[in-house]
Amino acid sequence: MTIKQVGVLGAGTMGSGIAQVFAQNGFQVQLVDNQPSHLQNAIVKIQAGLQKCVDKGVISAEQAKTGLTSVHTSPQMDIFAQCDLVIEAVTEEEPTKIALFQSIDRICPDHTILASNTSAISLTRMAAATKRPDRFMGMHFMNPVPVMQLVELIRALQTSDETFQALQEISLKLNKTAVTVKDNPGFVSNRILMPMINEAIYTLYEGVATIEDIDAVMKLGMNHPMGPLKLADMIGLDTCLFIMNVLQDGFKDSKYRPCPLLQQMVDAGYYGKKSGKGFYEYD
Ligand code: NAD
Repeated sequence: MTIKQVGVLGAGTMGSGIAQVFAQNGFQVQLVDNQPSHLQNAIVKIQAGLQKCVDKGVISAEQAKTGLTSVHTSPQMDIFAQCDLVIEAVTEEEPTKIALFQSIDRICPDHTILASNTSAISLTRMAAATKRPDRFMGMHFMNPVPVMQLVELIRALQTSDETFQALQEISLKLNKTAVTVKDNPGFVSNRILMPMINEAIYTLYEGVATIEDIDAVMKLGMNHPMGPLKLADMIGLDTCLFIMNVLQDGFKDSKYRPCPLLQQMVDAGYYGKKSGKGFYEYD
């Protein structure tokens, strides 16, 4: 099947990056968010992201210009009626995602593939809530989307071979490397990454070391490009908490319990980079 028009639901950290990579690779993008200010911020971010790609010689100035005009925004999901693929990137809450997918399912034509950028939630359960479970799967981009090479492809139990192949081909067209994993809480990426971040927060909570020192140990000692607390801020502390809860509920194992400090920071509205304050402060 030919995918030309791509819908992206959610214009936050991930949705804006996903919209950018599709736009800069020749797709028409319909970007939807129920917060008009998030759509405006996303366009500013996409414009800056495209300019960065021009500066690095990844795309030409002409491609950046065309890319920007390929992104259309709306607060309504009706524009997904013209899409061949819709990728959901809203808050990591299963009931919210399921309700939105049921609406998208009603809006889109039969051939449209639905994909979720979820970090941890069961694709099989989300697919089952739609009338097109065979045309449903996970397409998990990494943050920041324009920079990171990997896309984790997660097949729901119901995903057809045709749907899987279509998203494999799309990943290649976006110059990403696709790795296929089974539908299991947190898949591979967050099953390994998120408990490490949670443990770093426990280390801080128990007073073992300061924020800066915890990050320094992992950067200088383990050669991580960024410390786990800085990374948590970049991901979003609300998203980290959602993912830990999905791991704990999914595996029924208390080793995944979120650190009380993570819960408290989210309760205070300290979401990390996107809110201006997390473990660090941002402009
Ligand atoms: P975010 O909070 O930055 O953005 C979420 C966006 O969804 C917001 O703009 C919000 O207004 C919008 N939204 C929420 N409910 C909506 C609704 N009912 N209708 C329309 N729009 C709605 O979150 P994010 O970090 O971009 O995460 C999005 C998804 O991507 C989550 O499932 C998350 O787990 C996953 N993810 C996040 C990262 C990361 O590093 N942040 C990495 C990979 C995957």
